[in-house]
Amino acid sequence: MTKSADLHIHTHYSDGTMSPQEVVADALHCGINCIAITDHDTVDGISPAIEAARGCDLEVLPGIELSTEINGKDVHMLGYLFNWQDASLIEQLQKIQNARAERMKQMIQKLEALGIHNISFEEISDAAKTKALGRPHLAAALVEKKIVGNMRAAFDKYLAEGAPAYVPKFKQTPQEAIQLIKGLGGIVVLAHPMLTNVDELIPGLVAAGLGGLEAHYPNCSVNVMCFYENLARKHHLVITGGSDAHGAAKKHTFIGKVRIPYDLVEKLKEAVTGK
Ligand code: AMP
Ligand code: ZN
Ligand code: FE
Ligand code: FE
Repeated sequence: MTKSADLHIHTHYSDGTMSPQEVVADALHCGINCIAITDHDTVDGISPAIEAARGCDLEVLPGIELSTEINGKDVHMLGYLFNWQDASLIEQLQKIQNARAERMKQMIQKLEALGIHNISFEEISDAAKTKALGRPHLAAALVEKKIVGNMRAAFDKYLAEGAPAYVPKFKQTPQEAIQLIKGLGGIVVLAHPMLTNVDELIPGLVAAGLGGLEAHYPNCSVNVMCFYENLARKHHLVITGGSDAHGAAKKHTFIGKVRIPYDLVEKLKEAVTGK
């Protein structure tokens, strides 16, 4: 049987609900041969996942999903195969995580001003395993306290861009993310381009060192995926894909929902080593 990989998975170190150990167990159960842990703005889930997979028939690649912004648009950049233990990376991520904590406090203040007084920063940060606090953690608290009926309502009513408790995030540009990851020996892939809608910016990102496109993504038509595969070939980019699984936090996807042939992992590795 051909080997397969799922290169886009979140753990509870960002806004997923599964521990790295649970992710590894699930991937083994699904018969996947290779996964990448790609938490938002943190590398904390990588070592525990590698440790959990030790001695098993499962390869765990280091990854990350960095939040960036260009022309007012949110752009997620996936980094792979970089030195995730580098001290300057940890320092840079610490800055991003501190900014996320400050933003959480500001969103809680906005909720206060809207008459919601029973959510504290401490309970959110204690409940979350992550240092990369995000809107889903606050949305979960709004649901738990029955202020809204579900996560979607929490975003629609309070947290979505333009809603009354929304606060924008610390932003770096996609180019800065590329420099950071490439400087650590890794490769950067544009995440879910079919959702992000920045096709016109791809040539500029390629010039800045973009290495790949995530052409395989859940709940997309074959036509759309072919379009991005062709775009990747045109720009000599690596093709990747993954489920973007978040455990119970995202019902429409799960580990193994998207599986790419292991050949593509080899291409990713070749792009990094320059062979
Ligand atoms: P943050 O990084 O804190 O801005 O949170 C972004 C995350 O919030 C995304 O990765 C989604 O998982 C989630 N999210 C964003 N918009 C919505 C929405 N309208 N409904 C539900 N979840 C959302
Ligand atoms: Zn997420
Ligand atoms: Fe994303
Ligand atoms: Fe993701």
